Amino acid sequence: MVGNWKMALRPSQAHRLAQELAVQRLPVSCDIVVCPSFTALSLVRHSLGSSRLILGAQDVFGEVRGEHTGAVAVGDLREFGCRYVILGHSERRRDVNETDAEVNKKCLVAIGHGLSPIVCVGESRVERQRNIQTGVVARQVLRALHNLPPPRHGQEIVIAYEPIWAVGAEEPAEPEEVMTMAAVVHQALVDALGERLTDKHTRIVYGGSVFPDNVRSFIDRQNIHGVLLGRASQNVTTLVNLLKVLG
Ligand code: PEP
Repeated sequence: MVGNWKMALRPSQAHRLAQELAVQRLPVSCDIVVCPSFTALSLVRHSLGSSRLILGAQDVFGEVRGEHTGAVAVGDLREFGCRYVILGHSERRRDVNETDAEVNKKCLVAIGHGLSPIVCVGESRVERQRNIQTGVVARQVLRALHNLPPPRHGQEIVIAYEPIWAVGAEEPAEPEEVMTMAAVVHQALVDALGERLTDKHTRIVYGGSVFPDNVRSFIDRQNIHGVLLGRASQNVTTLVNLLKVLG
């Protein structure tokens, strides 16, 4: 489970949510990654303490160091204890016109410096209406992973299939459709990395309006290994209820 806290929580609120989560009995069968905003990373790291929750970030800059005002470097994320980083979220593709080429640079930087990227891919509503979603999503995966060196021990590449029209929406995508798209993502991973690395170092998750009452329909399905949550991860009761279903 990946929780994307976006900029929904102030650092003090993220700190409190992490403290509340850290003392819950959470399912041991589930890897739980929480991704606060940059400004909350330090506090959240502190409140997660020695719990089994894993820290992630919501973005990273595509250069390792240098004169890049306002950017956040991969080394800084490592120093804050991050193990994962969300890349290419549809809101960044929309808000700052992030391209597949930029996502690829960030992916290379993340993998090169010991982070596991969570690469978001997904088609727009218009692309789905035109029935070109499989090509769009396969291309996003292949471009994001272009020239990627093999992940090292303990590193993985997570692809989050998030149809844009289902993110922050009323309804998720149909589970059968998500399965079809997860198979497309799986094939693109095999094309990019080969069977062995795909089996050993990748996972596919679904994201888009997942809540406790519908999460069950997305898990235990072929090629779907988990979920990426926005809203449902930003409230302790909702998240704990959802994790109970996963566990
Ligand atoms: C997201 O932010 O990636 C997301 C899936 O949001 P929500 O769960 O709120 O639709």
